[in-house]
Amino acid sequence: MMRITNLLKQYTDIVFPVICVCCGCSAGQRYKYICDWCVNERFEPAQPERNEIFPECVRIQFSLWNFDKGGYLQQLLHDLKYNNLRGVGEELGYLLGRKFIQGCPEDFSTEFETKKPVLVPVPLHRSKRRKRGFNQARVISEGIIKVTDWDIVDLGAIIRVKSTKTQTGLNLAQRSENLNNAFKIVHNDDLNETIPIIVDDVFTTGATTFELAKTLADAGAGKSVILTIAKA
Ligand SMILES: [Zn+2]
Repeated sequence: MMRITNLLKQYTDIVFPVICVCCGCSAGQRYKYICDWCVNERFEPAQPERNEIFPECVRIQFSLWNFDKGGYLQQLLHDLKYNNLRGVGEELGYLLGRKFIQGCPEDFSTEFETKKPVLVPVPLHRSKRRKRGFNQARVISEGIIKVTDWDIVDLGAIIRVKSTKTQTGLNLAQRSENLNNAFKIVHNDDLNETIPIIVDDVFTTGATTFELAKTLADAGAGKSVILTIAKA
């Protein structure tokens, strides 16, 4: 009996590793991918932005950490996107949701009683989703709802109708032009009563999330909050 228990423990440790994906130290508990030290010390916290350069349809932009080109965060986000590390994505989403609830400089508490916050993961074009098998922004959203009671917009309710090539090297105006009318609302049950919380992995120039916020505002939603794991 003892041996079976030992075997089972070894097996579950293989299936659910407790080693931090950043530093290789023990992550402390099962189902955890990043250790407390890495969460608290390795990355630089991002400061919330309430800048007037945002379009009218955007209320605030809030990120967990500053992007570290060539660093651990870039690797984590790359693994999430291309190596399908869903557990990492959910854990990052959980940390982002917790930081937003605890540290958002704007008080949404009364508004959230009358207008429901709804998570809107930035949709991928179907060709990209088919290739990748999943949408990393939706995985991050699934982590956020572990600390909030918010809903995630139905898969297929908002779609990306324009497939864009890499935006690298383009400025904000060129990116915005590239993304014009990139999103389409397929069904819009009660957007009027919601505050959209747009979710993505990285905030760079904002062209993608701004275009999505505009599409949502045109359909009657309130000003969007933009939540991302990293801010470049
Ligand atoms: Zn670590």
